Amino acid sequence: MPVKVFSENNCVRNHAADIAAYGTKTLIVTGRHSAEACGALKDVTDALASEGVSYVHFNKVEENPSVETIMKARDLGLKEGADFVIGIGGGSPMDAAKAVALMMKHSDKDASYLYEKGVDSSTLPIIEIPTTCGTGSEVTAVSILTRHDTHSKGSIPHKIFGNLALLDARYLESASPATLASTAVDALAHLIESYISADATVFSRDIALTGLRTWIGTKDILMGLKPPARLAGSSDSSTEFRTSASSHDMSTVKLPFSNGDLERMLLASTYGGMAIAHTGTSLPHALSYTLTCDLGMKHGKACGYFLAGYMKEADPADVKSVLDAAGFTSIEDYEQFYEEACGRDTVSRELLEKAVAAVLANPGKIKKAPFHVDRSVMERIAGL
Ligand code: NAP
Ligand code: FE
Repeated sequence: MPVKVFSENNCVRNHAADIAAYGTKTLIVTGRHSAEACGALKDVTDALASEGVSYVHFNKVEENPSVETIMKARDLGLKEGADFVIGIGGGSPMDAAKAVALMMKHSDKDASYLYEKGVDSSTLPIIEIPTTCGTGSEVTAVSILTRHDTHSKGSIPHKIFGNLALLDARYLESASPATLASTAVDALAHLIESYISADATVFSRDIALTGLRTWIGTKDILMGLKPPARLAGSSDSSTEFRTSASSHDMSTVKLPFSNGDLERMLLASTYGGMAIAHTGTSLPHALSYTLTCDLGMKHGKACGYFLAGYMKEADPADVKSVLDAAGFTSIEDYEQFYEEACGRDTVSRELLEKAVAAVLANPGKIKKAPFHVDRSVMERIAGL
């Protein structure tokens, strides 16, 4: 995992000179609002100004970024003569930044290059700044794009690591409870799928276990967020949430975690990224893409949907290791947590069958499971 990672308060401003070392003009790649709302964009533009580096800003990355968006950002970066790329956001802008940096480096190619195998994957330099606690994209070589032409979502074949990752947990403060819950479950899925993987090694398992132990307090925090008024569709936009301890009397308290907890959530997500940088993800992630594409279900929530089913098929000793490390007493305890933190949507039988069929057609993914997989096993994991 070759990315240089810093994690501290004021990380971006502290590392202004490190950022400036990558070029003279940067393309900043973000979603529409969050980079500004969480303060990261201002930190970056101030850091660039202090070093005399100019920038152009592309702020139209949608959730589950599309190939079309990558090409629009690439065109802007080339037109403006940017020589490095900064991704600020959740996994969507960070994954987009990788693909944009690839396409800017190969400026004579069209979008089909994104899917060409065995070709040059070199990119312009990339700096990643996470504002969610889920994907670990800042330390993985993965860029996941949505293809509208085939109505599908998946990793592009290029392996693209960023050069520098700057972690500041303060950026998580503006994330909604639903985004925090979904992304923290994504991190949990990375850690568990990496540990219970045919490609796990003694080293990747150590990283996964450390990540799970770092994640451990997240369970209570996320259960304490249920159900914040904002999630229930109320116009109340205060940052008050009900605590799990008070779930019976339904009283409300202020946001129930300190910066220390947010730091742990962000670090757990980066550990998750490091773990899947070694092993890749497994069947829950593979199944999740159909739910996200067809229902618009958030990525982490969609992965978490299949996690209990995956653990039920795995070696009980491995399952005990991951559950103990993350603070769950049993698979059922995880299921209860998932329902409280993310809410369990009803997914139609037809869609689950479609998800299973898509994974069965992908032998590379099937091989990731460290146990025998056939249609009936997949159907059990999907809850059919
Ligand atoms: P995301 O799609 O990047 O963002 C989800 C939502 O959260 C957006 O509306 C975003 O707003 C908002 N948001 C992000 N940070 C915020 C903050 N600090 N405050 C307020 N709002 C905030 O979410 P994600 O779950 O992190 O990323 C999901 C994507 O990553 C999927 O495409 C998934 O497939 C991919 N992924 C990649 C890897 C990898 O290894 N590369 C691993 C797992 C998943 P804006 O739109 O305004 O930014
Ligand atoms: Fe994921």
